[in-house]
Amino acid sequence: MTARIAGVDVSTEHWIGGKRVASRARFADLSPIDGTHLADVSAGGAAEVDAAVAAARAAFPGWAELGPGGRLPILQRFAAGIQARAGELAAVETADNGSLLAGNVQRMVPRAALNVSFFADWAATKLVGHSIDSPEVTNHVRYDPAGVAALITPWNAPLMLTTWKVGPALAAGNTVVVKPPEWAPLTCSLLADIARDAGVPDGVLNLVQGIGEDAGAALVAHPGVDRISFTGSTDTAKAIGQSAARAITPLAAELGGKSPFIVCADADLDAAAQTVAMQYANAGQVCLAGTRVLVERGIADAFLDKVRGAAARMSVGDPRHADTRVGPLITHEHFARVSGFVERAKAAGGRALWGGARHPAGDLYFQPTLFDQVKPDFEIAQREVFGPVLTWHTFATDEEAVTVANGTRFGLAGVLFSRNEKRAMAIAERVVAGTLWVNCFFVRELAAPFGGARDSGIGREGGSWSFDFYCDVKNVAVRKGSFA
Ligand code: NAD
Repeated sequence: MTARIAGVDVSTEHWIGGKRVASRARFADLSPIDGTHLADVSAGGAAEVDAAVAAARAAFPGWAELGPGGRLPILQRFAAGIQARAGELAAVETADNGSLLAGNVQRMVPRAALNVSFFADWAATKLVGHSIDSPEVTNHVRYDPAGVAALITPWNAPLMLTTWKVGPALAAGNTVVVKPPEWAPLTCSLLADIARDAGVPDGVLNLVQGIGEDAGAALVAHPGVDRISFTGSTDTAKAIGQSAARAITPLAAELGGKSPFIVCADADLDAAAQTVAMQYANAGQVCLAGTRVLVERGIADAFLDKVRGAAARMSVGDPRHADTRVGPLITHEHFARVSGFVERAKAAGGRALWGGARHPAGDLYFQPTLFDQVKPDFEIAQREVFGPVLTWHTFATDEEAVTVANGTRFGLAGVLFSRNEKRAMAIAERVVAGTLWVNCFFVRELAAPFGGARDSGIGREGGSWSFDFYCDVKNVAVRKGSFA
């Protein structure tokens, strides 16, 4: 079956071994923009996962055999196909998860295409192995594909995050089974069409739609899976980690965050204030968002005025409109979760300097919110809200800033504004984070490592780190002078 979404026909079925496969069980997919029922999507379980893993295993030898050079033209066509359908992908993603249409057109879809072409190029040019000399032997280091990779992604950026895994996994010679997020499953389905049209062989990329606790759990527990790459919440990672541990399957996990946003008195305060306001984009449903604003005390009042002005320009509304900066939360369940954090913060003594309630734009729209009178150990400053809610803290010394910055279980990212290089680099060195942006935000280089410390993740992806994960690195140690 197909559903017509934003003028685009999207299959609502699985993609297994080069065929669309339906399940009797379905789940409803609603648009967060206005609650429109978009589709009833096949809800897979153990049987569909079995079939998909079998298809991936069957396709693996042929795909691996092609080598990076043989895979390159196919993956380049795949990347070009993503870019060619940019308008459709962006519109479907926005309908499905409420993310900003302009952001999807300008950044997310081009990045999804780049995720495929970048790693295909890298594999063809840099994944050639190398030799390490030693007195008795020459060590030939090889990067062999691991086998079948299970790829699980969340709803806040499904196309970009799925290609971030599919790109390097396929480039390295693995075959994959993707479990898209049930709250926004549709662009992943289009991805399967694009792969087919690009000539990706049947069984190399498979897709099982379904609920995390059913299809996702069956996939990560499947004995035919050689790698699990997961992006999502820390709680889900703990469940997946148990399956991975039982089978000793390598797991990469990119998880939640509660990132600090440190503003020093010597910073470009206008740029910093605009960047603080940007943390409200996509209604704060961004893992990397710097949600704890830490401001040097001497400039706190002046800086608050600037942030107030910048935040007022973050217009809330329909994410399809060009001037909208803050769209809806994803579901009623998530809205209730965000509201719960806000109400408990108020009850604990926090003060909403602005926002703190539903926005008149619609049922799922929440006002950009800033809390002060929040102690660093309050729930609102410790747990990931995943909504347009920031907390405001001040610091007197850099020591204090670093202590507060590092005072949660997370370590995904951080943002720091200062014009003093020595000072900035000294703070950057001490903040626990997978990525720390200095005088910028959300600049993502695919060759750079990406991931999280502490509860924010296991391992790093990006550049060579992706290939370290998706490959079995092998050393062929050959005794010198032993060949005739
Ligand atoms: P989630 O953990 O609930 O779901 C993520 C995916 O896991 C979904 O596809 C879901 O179906 C699946 N899943 C759920 N239970 C499962 C199980 N038992 N076994 C296997 N799969 C299962 O997360 P979410 O609410 O969809 O996404 C929001 C979270 O993702 C936030 O914490 C956010 O910070 C995080 N995130 C992290 C990054 C990053 O790069 N670090 C990027 C985006 C989002």
